[in-house]
Amino acid sequence: MKRIYLDYAATTPTHPEVVEAMSPYFTEIFGNPSSIYSYGQEARGAIEQARASVASLIGAQEEEIVFTSGGTEADNFALKGVAFASENKGNHIIISPIEHHAVTESAKFLERRGFSITRLPVDEYGLVDPDEVRKAITAKTILVSVMQANNEMGTIEPIAEIARITKEAGIPFHTDAVQTVGHIPVDVNELGVDLLAMSAHKFYGPKGVGALYIRKGTRLVPFLHGGSQEGRRRASTENVPGIVGFGKAAELAQAEMNQEAERLSRLRDELINGLLERIDHIRLNGHPTIRLPNNVNISFDYIEGESILLNLDLEGICASTGSACTSASLEPSEVLLAMGLSHEQAHGSLRLSLGRWIADDEIKRVLEVLPGIVARLRAMSPLLKSNN
Ligand code: PLP
Repeated sequence: MKRIYLDYAATTPTHPEVVEAMSPYFTEIFGNPSSIYSYGQEARGAIEQARASVASLIGAQEEEIVFTSGGTEADNFALKGVAFASENKGNHIIISPIEHHAVTESAKFLERRGFSITRLPVDEYGLVDPDEVRKAITAKTILVSVMQANNEMGTIEPIAEIARITKEAGIPFHTDAVQTVGHIPVDVNELGVDLLAMSAHKFYGPKGVGALYIRKGTRLVPFLHGGSQEGRRRASTENVPGIVGFGKAAELAQAEMNQEAERLSRLRDELINGLLERIDHIRLNGHPTIRLPNNVNISFDYIEGESILLNLDLEGICASTGSACTSASLEPSEVLLAMGLSHEQAHGSLRLSLGRWIADDEIKRVLEVLPGIVARLRAMSPLLKSNN
C-alpha cells in the first residue's frame, strides 16, 4: 500500500539535496571546527556558511544566530537565559496559553523557582489580542513569549503588533517560529522580535539541530557551560553535518518557499472545504484564513481523534491528533481547550499537515476515505446515541 504522509508539522523527510550536502562532513571533512589545521578550518568554514544562510532566511545578522540541538533547546535557552540574566530587574514573564511544551514547561520550571507567569487569554481562533499583552505588563516584567504560529491548529499570531508594545515597554520579546521558518516569510526586523526559535527538521533539514536568533544587545545567561563555541553562548563541539544540513535547508526554503506556500494553501483549502462539504458535525479549528499554508485541524463530534487516526493508519494515511498521549490517560489538547472547545471536541480533533511531497491525488484519496471512517465510527459511538 502506498503511504500518504500528512504529518509534516511533526517532522519532515530530509531533502535529498540536504543529505548530499551533509554527507562529506561525516567522513571526509570530519575535523573539530575548533582545531586550527585544515580539516578543522574547513568544518569551521562550513558552519559559518550555514550561519549566513540561516541568518539570510530570517533577515538577521550572522552573529545573531546561535546553533542549538533543536527548537526545544532554543525555547529553553530564550526563557531561562533571559530569566536568569534579568533577576535583578524583575521576575514576571508573559506567555500565551497555546505555546509548545518547550515554552510551557520552561515557564513551569521557572515558576517553581520563584518567577511569576501570566498566561494570556486567546480567542476562539487561538489569537492573542495585543492589548491583553499591554494590560499584562508590569514593572517586574522581564520577558514576553508568544509563538508565531501554532503547531496544532495553525493560527498565525500578530507578532509585529505585540513587538511594538514590548519595545515601547523595553521588554525582550521571544517568538517560537519553529512552524513558520522555512514555510512563510519570516523577517526578524519586520517582526521586531528580540529572540526567535527555529528547528531544521520542520523544513526538510535534519533532526537534532536548530537555532536561537538573539538580537544584538539582548542579555541571556548561557545554558551550557564548557568550551567557547558559538561566541561563548553555547558550549559543546558543533554538530557540523547537522548545521550544514540546516544551512542547505534554509537555502532551499528561501528559493522555493513562496511558490510552495501557494501550492500548499490551495491543497489545504481543498481539503478543508472538501471535508466540510462531505461530513456533518465537524468544525475547523484555528483561524479560517490567518493560518499556516500546510495546516488542517478538524474536530469531529461524537468520536475520538485517536480512533480516526488508527483507522487512517489502516488505509496507509499518517496524521495526528491534537491530544497528547500520556502513559496512563489520553489528555485533551490544552491548546484547543484554551480556545474554548469542550473536552469532547478537543478529544475529537485530527491534524492533517501538508508538505513538499504531498500530491493532488493524495488529497483526493483522503477526501474519499475519511467520510467512510467517520460514518463507521459514529455508527458505533455511544456519544452519538446519547446525543440523539
Ligand atoms: N516549538 C514548536 C512550535 C514545535 O512544533 C516544535 C516541534 O514539535 C518544537 C518547538 C520543538 O522543536 P524540536 O523538535 O526541534 O525540539
